[in-house]
Amino acid sequence: MIIDFHTHTFPEKIVQSTIAKLSASADIKNYIAGTLADLCSSMQNHGIDYSVLLPVVTNPAHEKKINRLTIETNEHFSESGIISFGGIHPDNEDYKNILKDLSKNGIKGIKLHPVFQKTYFNDIRYKKIIDYAMELDLIVVTHAGYDISYPGADFVTPSHILPIIKELHPKKLVLAHMGGWNCWDEVLDQIAGCDVYLDTSFSMTPLRSPKSKAATLSKSDSADIKTSRLQLGIGEFQKIVKKHGIDRILFGSDSPWADQGECIRILKNTGLSDLELSKILGENAGQLLNL
Ligand SMILES: [Zn+2]
Repeated sequence: MIIDFHTHTFPEKIVQSTIAKLSASADIKNYIAGTLADLCSSMQNHGIDYSVLLPVVTNPAHEKKINRLTIETNEHFSESGIISFGGIHPDNEDYKNILKDLSKNGIKGIKLHPVFQKTYFNDIRYKKIIDYAMELDLIVVTHAGYDISYPGADFVTPSHILPIIKELHPKKLVLAHMGGWNCWDEVLDQIAGCDVYLDTSFSMTPLRSPKSKAATLSKSDSADIKTSRLQLGIGEFQKIVKKHGIDRILFGSDSPWADQGECIRILKNTGLSDLELSKILGENAGQLLNL
């Protein structure tokens, strides 16, 4: 069983403009067009059973629309294999009702994005949201580390995450991007070994700008693409996994910003045993999601 714990799609109406905007600000390319249908065919192509969708609420006024779509998307779960989480913004003052409503509708978790939401992860508003999500047994996924679109914006580095772990002891907190994108030393020192999950999304895939020709990594072009020093090296990945423990690492791609198949291939080349690989690729997520 393969579960991709970190994917994004956008509604048809805004998909092109949103992808173009995000791609330009991050200077990275998308691998599929970014609709739900594209994600479903990518899953079929790469043998992925389930994908977790993580919508980001960048404006508190968009919360209702986004979560309505979340609930709608989940109604088709048995055919699509798509599990959509809900979104919430720290400025949504009625956070309790929002979370209660998501939970009542069978939604399994929520996504926070402190960089896009311009709020420190240890802000009281996030604390309240996480605390109440824990009460409802919801999974909380947060973007972690820097964001390639906002260089230097340190809203959710290990120094903001650690106090929350120590204060709230969340049992179902998932830190995206291996615990903190581009904070790899701090993750190894401070986060690895904590009782949280780390997803592998956007951590080891080579960064390719929209100008580069190669849509996927093939033997002929792999030599031309240097893995950016921003990304996590295989040796560093192994150290984090060893210290953190294999049971709380979840495979994620960050599709459409990476190719799901390539992410699986990269993971398979990190020297993990078959047993370790099957835990990361699906078993751990299956248990967390109660599948
Ligand atoms: Zn993402």
